[in-house]
Amino acid sequence: MGYAKEMMLRELEQGFHSVSSAKVVCAKCFTDEAIQAFIRDRVSERKCSYCGRRSKKPIAAPMNDVLGLIVEGLNHEYADPIEENARDDGEWVIDPRDTADVLAGMDTITENRDVFDEIVSSITSDWVDRPLWGPSEGDFLRYGWDDFVEAVKYDRRYLFLMPKEDRYSSGGLTPDKMLDQLGEVITQVGLVRTMNAGTRWYRARVHGLAKKYTSATDLGTAPREAALSSNRMSPLGIPMFYGAENEATAIAETYAPKPGTPEAVTVAQFRTARDASVVDFTVLPKVPSLFDQENWHRRGPIWFLRDFVEDLVRPIEKDGREHVDYVPTQVVTEYLRHVFRTETGHPVQGVIYRSARTEGGKCCVLFVGNDECCEGAPGWENDQEKRLGLTGKPKRHEYP
Ligand SMILES: [Zn+2]
Repeated sequence: MGYAKEMMLRELEQGFHSVSSAKVVCAKCFTDEAIQAFIRDRVSERKCSYCGRRSKKPIAAPMNDVLGLIVEGLNHEYADPIEENARDDGEWVIDPRDTADVLAGMDTITENRDVFDEIVSSITSDWVDRPLWGPSEGDFLRYGWDDFVEAVKYDRRYLFLMPKEDRYSSGGLTPDKMLDQLGEVITQVGLVRTMNAGTRWYRARVHGLAKKYTSATDLGTAPREAALSSNRMSPLGIPMFYGAENEATAIAETYAPKPGTPEAVTVAQFRTARDASVVDFTVLPKVPSLFDQENWHRRGPIWFLRDFVEDLVRPIEKDGREHVDYVPTQVVTEYLRHVFRTETGHPVQGVIYRSARTEGGKCCVLFVGNDECCEGAPGWENDQEKRLGLTGKPKRHEYP
């Protein structure tokens, strides 16, 4: 076989036109962290062919190696239009995109114009989404969640765990499977963490001006018979402890001014007795780069969780609609409380989420009953039956 033909076959197989083997590129020519790490792992030259930077130590790696990495990354989520049947009767059903267009649609990988031009002139394939005719992993979860929300709000609130044919079949993930799938994603992405003993949470109680509340019984979790409102994470009759990381957030989450109705809000500070596992939705990891092969499997789940968390904390007016709109999060909370287990097989004791009412404020719902809240007298945490101790003096705010 002639050299030219051999070269052509190799390029076809590798998916890009090789550049001169003398061309090397440094990590600073890229902004994508995965590509930077890839280069740092295989530096061999002391001068970058693109930005001209020099060093006493090797700083640049062969451009052909980097092009190989980029092609593999693109191939993970984009495909040859022919392979994905993007054509029907000779016409494109979906117009393929070139490499420049695909790169423009994602986080910038390089700000160096020469490097960018080299990439798009070497990788000349056309691309369509992979898979083209089905949902990506992130969309699969997202459609499943949308169907789940629709089902528990408007169709089958209590019996959705019994599989039903066909009705909710957009992505293949039916409502009865959604909760376990969500549990898997939570574990995979690493949202379970330890909430340390002694963590402070503020709880606000709204009441008439004539009342005065100071005890843990009055300011802790409502007793069953008093749990008469539908909340984000808990339905009527199932009390949970709602707290916030500071006083302002606790008040903002609980008190909505009603003109003409004077009211008071008493805020109490509680502390946790022991270390406990919680699901923390406030710190989501970054979506890994398409060029970070080791973390490809986490891209879909993290994309999904970002949308899911938006849904979780969306502000909802308490005008009667909350009895319907809170149902999906109430079901998820019940699942996390009673079914979900950590990797070591333990149940979680609460959920941490962002406040819908204050910028950046954190809230919690802890699975702690009224009788598990107590006065924080010295040694209170040694009582294994107690989980939250009232510490400090409750503060009263009046809104005339
Ligand atoms: Zn450079």
